[in-house]
Parts: sequence; C-alpha cells; structure tokens
Amino acid sequence: MLPPANPPAPGRPGNPTAARVRTLRSVARFRRKYGFLVLLLPAFIILVTDFAIRGDRIFAMPGRYYGSYLAAAVESCLFWGLLLFSASRRRGAFRYVAAGLFVLFATCAMGTQIYFHSSYATYLNLDATIFGTSVSQSVFGQLRADGENVLTKIAPPLLIGAALLFAARRSFRHRSHRLGAGMRVLAPAILVAVFVIPCSYRKVQASTPDVIYFHAIGGLAKQVLGFGTNDSVQVRPGVRSPPSLPALDPAQMSTKLGTTPGRNVILVLTESVRYDVACLAYTPDCPTMPETNAAVPDRIPLSQVRSNSSTTAIQLAVLWSGLEPTASREALHSAPVLFDYAHAAGIDSAYWTSHHMMFANSRLWVQDLPTSHRVGATDLDPVADIDLGANDRYLTERAKKEIVELKEPFFAIVHYGNTHVPYMVDPEHSPFQPSEESKDPGKNEAYRNYYKNAVFLQDKSIGEMLRFIKGAPFAERTVIVYTSDHAEAFREHGQLGHTGAVLDEEIHVPGWVDAPEGTLSDAERSALEQSQTELLFHTDFAPTMLDLMGLHDEPSLAPYRARMVGSSFVRPFGEERKKMTLGLTNCSGIWGCAYKNWGVMRGSLKVEGREWYAGWRCFDVLADPQEQNDLGAAGCGDLMDYAGKLYGEPPGGR
Ligand SMILES: [Zn+2]
Repeated sequence: MLPPANPPAPGRPGNPTAARVRTLRSVARFRRKYGFLVLLLPAFIILVTDFAIRGDRIFAMPGRYYGSYLAAAVESCLFWGLLLFSASRRRGAFRYVAAGLFVLFATCAMGTQIYFHSSYATYLNLDATIFGTSVSQSVFGQLRADGENVLTKIAPPLLIGAALLFAARRSFRHRSHRLGAGMRVLAPAILVAVFVIPCSYRKVQASTPDVIYFHAIGGLAKQVLGFGTNDSVQVRPGVRSPPSLPALDPAQMSTKLGTTPGRNVILVLTESVRYDVACLAYTPDCPTMPETNAAVPDRIPLSQVRSNSSTTAIQLAVLWSGLEPTASREALHSAPVLFDYAHAAGIDSAYWTSHHMMFANSRLWVQDLPTSHRVGATDLDPVADIDLGANDRYLTERAKKEIVELKEPFFAIVHYGNTHVPYMVDPEHSPFQPSEESKDPGKNEAYRNYYKNAVFLQDKSIGEMLRFIKGAPFAERTVIVYTSDHAEAFREHGQLGHTGAVLDEEIHVPGWVDAPEGTLSDAERSALEQSQTELLFHTDFAPTMLDLMGLHDEPSLAPYRARMVGSSFVRPFGEERKKMTLGLTNCSGIWGCAYKNWGVMRGSLKVEGREWYAGWRCFDVLADPQEQNDLGAAGCGDLMDYAGKLYGEPPGGR
C-alpha cells in the first residue's frame, strides 16, 4: 500500500495556499490590533456629520462651551462603542437586542436631527419635544405631508448603522471573557445613562446631535411619566378674565361722522402671509392675489407693517388687545379685547374663523367673546384638519350668510387659515411651478411656490368675501382692514415657517385699508395716506380699530387705552410714537416657545436674537431689508442694552 501523500508544507515559497494563510494571519493580526477602532466609528461619523451641518456655529461657540461639547463627544463614543461591542458578540441573546437597538437608535437619533436641522436650523431638543406634545397632531400631520423628505433623511443613518454593525461583527473579535463580562454590565448602564445625563441643549447646543436627541427623549419620558416639568414651553392660552366695561353711549359712535348709522369695521385677517406675496396696492397684474386685487381696487396700501411676534395666538392677543407680546400672562388674559369694547358700546360683532380651536387649546381664550356670531373650524367642517383648519371657502360661505344678520354699525373679524403649514393647495389652481411640498433644502424655491399656490387658492375665498361686502347694501359705510397674523420664513436665515425668529421674513406682513368715500374724515384720510410708508406694528391695530369704531377718545376707556402702546394710524403719528421702542418675541405669557427668540424695534432699527446666538444682532430694516448686514452694538445705540434688560437673558447666556 502506498503511503498517503504528504500535505504541502505551509510556508513553502511558491505555494498559493500558503500565501493565503499568510494574508489571513496578517489580517487577523491587524484585526487584533486595530479591530476595536470600528467601535469608535459611529461617534466619529456623528462628529463629522455635526461639523458638516453646523461647523461654523461650533467654531463660533464661546470657549467655555468646548468642555461641554467634548464631554458629549465622549458620551457619544462610550454609548455607540459599548452598544456595538455588545452587538458584535458571538454568543448570548443580548447581542440581538443590542444589534436591534444600535440600528434603531442610529436611525432615530441621527435621522431626526438631520431632518430637524434641515427644516429649523437647530437640533430637536427637550423644549421642542415637550412643545411637540402639545401640538402632536400637527407634528404627525407635517411629517406625513413631508414623507419623502423624511425618508431621505433617515435612510442614510439606517444604512450606515447596518453597515457598521456588519463591519463590527466581521472585524472585531471578543477575546477576554473578563472584559466581555464587564461590558455586559456597562452597556445597559450607558443605555439608561444617555437619557438622563444633562447636556447643553438650549442656546448654543454645545453637544453632539445624538446626545441632544437622547436627552430630549429622556426628558420627554420624565415629563410624560409625571416627573419634572418644563413650564416655559407649555404656556398656552387660558380663559380670559376681562373687567366689565362701563356701558357706553352708542349714539356717540353714530354721530362721529354725522352719519347714521356709524361706520362698520371689518378686519380681514389671514395666516402666515408674507408682505412680498401680497399685492398691497392695486396693480393691473397681481399673480398671487388676483381676486382680492380686483375686489378692492381703491385700497390704501400699508407697506411697512410688522407683527410683534410670529405666533398666531400671540398675534391675536396683540391685534385685539393692543398690548405687546412682552406683557405679562395676567395682563394678556385680563385686558379687554376689541369685541369687549364693541359690546360695551352696543356695537354688534362677529368672529368667524376657519382656524381649529383645538390647536393647543386656543378655544379657551376665545370662548367668552361677547359676539352675536362666532364660528370655528369644526362648526364649518367637523373633520377639519388641526393645522389647516376648515376650508376657507366654507368660512366665506358662512360669513356671507351671517354678515347680513348683523345690526349696523358692526365690528367683525373674518379670520382665514388655509395658508398655515402644511398649506392647502389645489393642483388645478396652482400657477406657481415647479411646486413641491418637500422641505428638502435643495427644493426651497419649489416649496416656496407650493406656499404661493396656497396663497393663490386662499385668494379665491377672500376675493369672494370682499366682492360680497363691496356689493352689500352696507358697503358704503364699511371700512375693511387687511393684514396677516405674521409672515413665513423660507430659510432666509436658515429657518422655515414661523415662531423661530423675529427676523423680517417672519414679521413683515401685508396691510391695506379700504375706506369708501365718506367713511373717513379728510383728516383721517390724510393721516392714513401718510401711514402708507410709515413703520406700523400690529400693536397699532387695536387703537386704529377703536378709532374707526368711534371709541378711541371715550373717557371711560382711557385707562385701557393708556395701556395700549400703539397709535391709531388714521391720526397723524407724533414724534413720541416714532421714537417708541417695541418688544418683539415668540416667548410670551400667552404662548411659550420651543426655541427662545426675541427682539426690539425702534423706527427701522431692529435688535434681534435667537437663543444660540453669541450675542444680539442689529439691523436697519429699511436700509437692509434682507437683514444681512449686522450693524453691531454701535449701530443700534442703547437698543441692545434695552433688549437685554427687557428679556433678562441675552442670546448665548449671561
Ligand atoms: Zn399664524
């Protein structure tokens, strides 16, 4: 019998199997030495992503924040490293749990933060998640509407997470059992710890995005389970408690212009409409609002109107009470509003809105208005969307039906809502193209077109209302005032939508007044014409409405009138009014904010801050309408000090 052939000796030159073994050995050596590095990859990728998203802001952080950022980076390394370590084990059931958690957390944390930053120029933090719980239906509605963009933001973290898991299992070898046992204890500990370890999440966000995310989710869980509170962002409108006003003599109003009955006043209020998408004065060609444009051709434009915040609830309080958003919660809930004044004077009044009163419980604030007619979204459509409200067409139909039931002189507000995000459009009536609902930064102009199509669609309802008023028997005695509660940002300074800043893209609103011959005295008309280019604020609207109702100088209302900071713009503005300093903020006693932002304006100078700024910024909104040229402390005189004192907490901390 032949002896068995000798197997080829390993390591002999020229033997292909030997070469392969050598390669495998060196790979194994490399893996032993450097395999652990794969555990650091997740945190490294997160850091690179963070610097790609907001490197400029990280470099601009005051030095004292670097320690906090470094601590967050270490926390991130430990968290992802330990989780990946556990997920790449060869044995034990926990490795499956760890693997699932690793991919899930990577997808949720980074997908959310990348999406959030692309829309709001800041990371989702604890304040925003708690704020979100009070408007959760809106949050889900908006995510549904922006589905494709959400998917493109969460897909990369999902794929990278899965790839890292695969790589760790291939390249990392668990050798020491003692180390393995230690890790088995540490991994669950860090899993819990990330949700409770404090971090810098508010102003400068001196933490990595994943750490801010876990902190937010942990805080939210605490809030939901009833531990700990975060009251400042949960501030919402409550029930009003206005004083009982003295009964006024209605005859006073009727005789104001020597006409009987006196003039009717209608405020047409819309939602999120920017001044630059409206046609303020009549023009032969108005692409965004052709029907409004044609219905009130003799309107007097107001080209420099600003809202005092960019939040609907705050602006309703400002427009109706004449108080600033910086007034106390108590003041904002106890001040009489225009309907109270009208009621005291025996003036019939109505409030018709397509807005949803369940939105963060705003119903409470309006439930006791002394109006003879009032409707909200669910009166018009029981299944109205919480953000869009009922279809504005239904609002016009209802208001047309009821306005003829009002006793003259009357005061009415018709409040439209379909231009709120996610914007109601009709593909059949969408002249602005290309138009896309996506919030992808690369599609900003298509998204702006989508918004303009919503403005165009709403114009059909507002135009129909205006035509009806102009054709009604009371038309010649009726003054119509038009404005929007606030404007809307399209990433001019990074952020989208409203409530994020008091920059002009969020507060420069359209305004006009339609006053037929005989409704204004010569002096009033001349003052109004002067106001066309004057810097006006929504705080000027309540005094103007009172003036139009004939109640401005009523002695018994003097104490309330004195608390209003604005001036009627159907009277000449005094020097005092022009030099007045006004507070602008989305963090008010009637509505809390997810991200703090504040400002003040005096004339055309604006001091503005968001919580993550290193300090206040100063702009001249007339000389620099895009607010690109920060004039610094010297450019705004004492305004920065004024703002610091008013708000008590300058941007970037003390
Ligand atoms: Zn609004």
